[in-house]
Amino acid sequence: MSWYIELARPEIQALKAYEHASWEPGLVRLHANELPWRSPADTTVEGLNRYPEPHPLDLAARLAPLYRVAPACALPSRGSDEGIDLLVRAYCRAAVDSVIICPPTFGMYAVAARIQGAGVIEVPLPRAAGYALDVEAILAALTPKVKLVFLCTPNNPTGNALAAADILRLAEALAGRTLLVIDEAYADFSDAPSAAGLIGRYPGLVVLRTLSKAYGLAGARCGILLGDPAIVGLLRRIIQPYAVTQLTIEAVQRALEPAALAVTRERVASIVAERGRVAAALAALPGVQKVWPSAANFLLVEFTDAAAAVERTHAAGLLVRDLRRTPGLERALRITIGSAEQNDRLLRSLA
Ligand code: PMP
Repeated sequence: MSWYIELARPEIQALKAYEHASWEPGLVRLHANELPWRSPADTTVEGLNRYPEPHPLDLAARLAPLYRVAPACALPSRGSDEGIDLLVRAYCRAAVDSVIICPPTFGMYAVAARIQGAGVIEVPLPRAAGYALDVEAILAALTPKVKLVFLCTPNNPTGNALAAADILRLAEALAGRTLLVIDEAYADFSDAPSAAGLIGRYPGLVVLRTLSKAYGLAGARCGILLGDPAIVGLLRRIIQPYAVTQLTIEAVQRALEPAALAVTRERVASIVAERGRVAAALAALPGVQKVWPSAANFLLVEFTDAAAAVERTHAAGLLVRDLRRTPGLERALRITIGSAEQNDRLLRSLA
């Protein structure tokens, strides 16, 4: 067995997956206790009276080329949040194992670990280094009980893309010891190459992608975990059967048609252009101390008086993410790049 499967909880390695009703779309389904008629509320192509494909292999095969991996390397899930949860549940024994996270970063890694009863080891991204990875500190924090190292690039909430050379160094150093999970939720807004290209060389590397951001499908809940086929197979044993709904499957199929993909590309380009414009305009405002460089669809902005900035944006009917309770970000807000009109409104509210 490969080291990256032996690292998983022994019960999960030994688990026999739930035997769902067989999937033979050509036959009349009298085996799954469904209703033969469609609901009047049902606007789908295949019908919501039927369970969807138990593990959406067709969807995996359609999504895989987006990330230049083989279909066996792609696991669709209910958002990348579910991918994070699956990894923690499969790899961390409660009260024994730990994960490493690099704060300030996305909160779900620590929440998923705590729900599982796993430890959370924090190795901060140093502000003085522009929130770059501290590779040496990660390696120093490593013990045999660390099962997952979570990185986020571009990082939420700081916006910076982590250096590819640092990721490569970690992939090399962690091979044989712990899984390296790279959350690329915002990578569609960045020029940096995806770490998915490294999976063949480093099978302990797992990449998380999502359709919630650039594809405008946050409400559909579709994430894609990319990894070695053995890891994908292991996680498929613990994901709920029918996790991805028929509504989502059909929405994603439509989003992957060439015309829809072209719209997505245009929109990403317009968010990237607006990101530059809004960053420059914010930086010129007297109450703004720093606008951090961003490779994502948001900006981390530090204010002389962040409380006042929250109030002013709220009074203009805008919600921004208040980060003042995040250690090290006491003056910071995270502001999503909206439409040009929304961004103008934001800038007027703060001017
Ligand atoms: N990773 C990061 C870094 C995120 O910011 C988010 C959403 N805020 C997620 C994952 C979760 O995304 P999804 O909608 O795919 O669950």
